[in-house]
Amino acid sequence: MPYCSNCGNPVTEEQDVCLACGKKLTNSEKKSVSNVSDTGGFGWGLLGFCIPIVGLILFIVWKEDQPNNAKATGKGALISVIFSVTMYLIMFMLGLGGPLR
Ligand SMILES: [Zn+2]
Repeated sequence: MPYCSNCGNPVTEEQDVCLACGKKLTNSEKKSVSNVSDTGGFGWGLLGFCIPIVGLILFIVWKEDQPNNAKATGKGALISVIFSVTMYLIMFMLGLGGPLR
């Protein structure tokens, strides 16, 4: 399915104007942006979560052309960083509490 090059909203081949942002859609435009589908799917979030560096790079590269995918990878990377910090804090606290018992 093609996506609006302006806002990333899904559009149909028959549509001439994006319903979300009102941008006029040309046929070449609809085709060019549909090479990689900007679904913002769970897989991209998982990728960002597993490899935060890749998520961050993809977020920067995609934020113009594929805002949904960029958001998904960026969010995954962010969650991964927060998760790591939280785990570190928990390990740190457990490490401090351990010898006292
Ligand atoms: Zn649009």
